[in-house]
Formats: sequence, C-alpha cells, structure tokens
Amino acid sequence: MNAKASAYPDESDGYWMHYHDQDSQQLADAIIKYAVDRMRLDPPPLDAPKSLSTLQRKVGQTITPEGLGALKALEIFTEQLAPSCISVDHPLFLSFVPGAPTESSVLFDLVVGASNVYAGSWLEGAGAVYAENQALSWLVGLAGLPDTAGGVFVSGGTNGNLSALIAARWSWRARRKGAADRVRPVIIASGGAHSSIGLAASAMDADLVTAAVNDAGCLTAAAVRETFAGLSQEDQQRVCAVVATSGTTNIGVIDELDGIGDFARNNGIWFHVDGAYGAAALCASSVRHLFIGIEKVDSFIVDPHKWLFGPYDCCALIYRDVRIGKAAHTQKAEYLDVLVQDASAALDEAYNPADLAHHLTRRARGLPFWFSLATHGTEAYEEAMEITLQVTRDAADMVRASAHLELVVEPSLSIIVLRRKGWQPADYTRWSDRMLADGIAFVVPTTHKSETVLRMCLVNPRTDPAQMQMLFDSLQD
Ligand SMILES: *Cc1c(COP(=O)(O)O)cnc(C)c1O
Repeated sequence: MNAKASAYPDESDGYWMHYHDQDSQQLADAIIKYAVDRMRLDPPPLDAPKSLSTLQRKVGQTITPEGLGALKALEIFTEQLAPSCISVDHPLFLSFVPGAPTESSVLFDLVVGASNVYAGSWLEGAGAVYAENQALSWLVGLAGLPDTAGGVFVSGGTNGNLSALIAARWSWRARRKGAADRVRPVIIASGGAHSSIGLAASAMDADLVTAAVNDAGCLTAAAVRETFAGLSQEDQQRVCAVVATSGTTNIGVIDELDGIGDFARNNGIWFHVDGAYGAAALCASSVRHLFIGIEKVDSFIVDPHKWLFGPYDCCALIYRDVRIGKAAHTQKAEYLDVLVQDASAALDEAYNPADLAHHLTRRARGLPFWFSLATHGTEAYEEAMEITLQVTRDAADMVRASAHLELVVEPSLSIIVLRRKGWQPADYTRWSDRMLADGIAFVVPTTHKSETVLRMCLVNPRTDPAQMQMLFDSLQD
C-alpha cells in the first residue's frame, strides 16, 4: 500500500463522521425527540446555573481522542448541561429581556441548521434571502419607511447598532466630501441608551455625547437641541448620528422620536433608533402612537429574539436607504469579485446581506422568524403583542393595589419597575435568589436613580396574571 492510499481509511477503520451509517437514524430520532419534548415542556423547568467546580465534577472532560459517541454526549447535555442553563422561555423569567419563541420558529430553526444555507450572498442563498427580506419588509412597513428601505438580520442588537452607526459615519463623511475623513465622529445619545451604543462608539473611536433625559427617563428633542447647541461649532460638525431608544432596556421608556427626527433632519444628521426590545410593539395598535416619528429614521433595529417570538440569535437592522448600508459595509477582495453588483445599477431586492453590516458569512438567521410570521400571519403577532401588553397593564394594577408595593415608573410597554416599601438592596437580592433557587421565577433587581428596585420585563404571552399576583404576594414576607 502506498502512503497516499493509507490516508483514506476504509469502513473497517470505523471512520463515519461524514457518512450515514446505522447509528445516524438512531441519533436523528433521539435529537428530534429531545427537541420536540423540550419545546413542548409547559412550562419548562426554570433551572439555574451551576458553579464551575460543580460542572467539572459532574460533567468532567467531554473532549476525548476517541469521542464519547453521540448518545452519550446527548445524555450529558440532557442531564447536566441543559439543566445548568436558565430557561429564558419560562413564563416567569422576567429578568433582562427574555425570549418566547413560537413552536414554529423553533422547529424551523432545526431546518435552518440542517440546510446550512450560506446567507451572505444572493448568489448562494437567493431563496433564503428572498424570504428574509419579506420578513424585513413587514417591519419596514410597520415603521412607515419608504420603498428604498431594506436591511439584514444580524446576530443581535449590539451588532445592529454598531453596523447602523458605521453607516451613519460613512454617510457623514461622504457628505463632507473628504473634509471629515480624518476627523473623529461624535454620536449623541441619551443616558438611558443601551450599553451597546457606548461600545459601538468606542469601537468606532467616536466621542459619545450624552444628552440628559427628563424625570421620566425620556430623551426629548429639546434636550438633544440643547446638547447640540452646547457643542462648539467644530464639534457640531463632527456629529454623525443621534440615537434615540424606543423602549429603553431598564425602564421601557420611548424617547421623543418625532421631535428628535425633525432635529436630525434639519441638521443633516443621521437618525438611528434602537428598538432592540421595544420596536416589536410597532405591530400593536394600542401602543403604535408611542412610536410616531420612527418613520423619520435613517436606520433602526429590532430583535426578533426578544419580543417577536423568534429564537436566538436575530436582530433586524433596517436602513431607510439600503444603498448607504451597502456602501459602508461591502467588503472588497479578489475572491469576492464574483459577488459584486454593478454599483451604478439601482439596487434591486437581490442584494447581498453580507454587504449591509459588519460581517460576511452568516446563517439565514432570519428564517425562523420568517417561518413563524408566514405560518401564523401578522394578525397573530399583533394579538400576541397585545396579550403581553395587557398582562403588563393588569400586573401594574396589581402593584397599585398592593400596600407593600409601589410602581417606580408608569409602564409604557411591558417593563414594570417597582419598589417594595421598606426593603434594602440585600432584601431584594435575598428574595430574587430564593425565587430562582425554588425554581419559581427569575427576577433580578436593577437600579433606577441610584435606588435598588425590582424590574420585570414581560415578552411571553403565556405569562399568567395569576402567577404575577403570586409573585407580588411573595414580596410581602
Ligand atoms: C437588548 C438590547 C440591545 C442589545 O441587543 P443584543 O441582541 O443583546 O445584542 C440593544 N439595545 C437595546 C435597547 C436592548 O434592549
């Protein structure tokens, strides 16, 4: 046997990693069963993290020269790893921003994984991109943007904000025709903006100028105007973007989009709205008026993995003029030349998603959301959204009716911030730890105006008002 041939083991050597064999059907059955059973748990166990030493003791080393075999690895996941992760879709997971993916979106995520479509280019992923773009169009329509609008699904709000702001900077520099090419940009945002705005500014080496919010935590147009007026003329010329938030992460406040949009337009400044959490509620007519002015954006984001009932990880990034996103982000290389479209041609729908954000290779991560939207229709989305909003209103009434509790802010979307009268920070922590340890709820304290308070974020239409009452009652002890 020559040396070359020996590099190709025959079946008797047991190489099967890339081939179907009799075990693969058994594995397929086990995986599908696990996925379907997990999806149907009602509710799923809340579960809780474990310490590194516990996991080392219980799980040990899983990467071995010979491999554990699929069923053994799956067993370790099922029995040790999965229960060491908190179930984000538990109806009383109310910390941070939870998720509540529909069954259809979760099941279709399996299909997306199995298909492994390269969704960076139209050439390779036309069908997937076509469907993703229809889901994006729904969001474009809800926001009231023109036909030139379009976008791409990226991994999360953090990437969405960064990519939008890079486009804002590109647009600012293009307008200044070279005069700003070596100038640091300035981004104006509120103190209530998400931490990812600061991270984007730092990645872009931009100066973040914070505009003060009013008592209610809202960034007003007056505050933006005042902040801008307070800058030197030279600094004013450096402002490449103003960022408003439609649903702040901590207290759910929607900034004054309409006035800020006018300010941005009058001053030739890019207007970005971070709606990672809140812009999902654009589809709910009972709160649609809160978003007036969003039609003035140059870009906005919303995370389907938060309140649009899709699985991780998925953020819709939308540009008013998709050509700017493309100009700012298209990568150029010999091996990509085949993908380049004629730059002078009007941009059609057949654009490359890779060209619209800070990425290249991407999974078709918008497809689970698309499938759910296509399956259930947009009315079901509006209905599910209204249910969460109504549960929030009912829960806020329960707080008002509880002598031991007080609302800290009036909820505008689905975040409730409340105070347990007489409690110190340690009391909140103790209660929160107990709720998690008992597998009842995951609600962590936050701080608002330097005070430790409780924050509950509802995105799950299956969160039951009676369960909310139970939580509020448990705060009595
Ligand atoms: C969650 C959130 C983000 C960050 O989104 P990721 O998907 O976690 O990266 C940005 N902005 C706001 C307002 C958010 O609520």
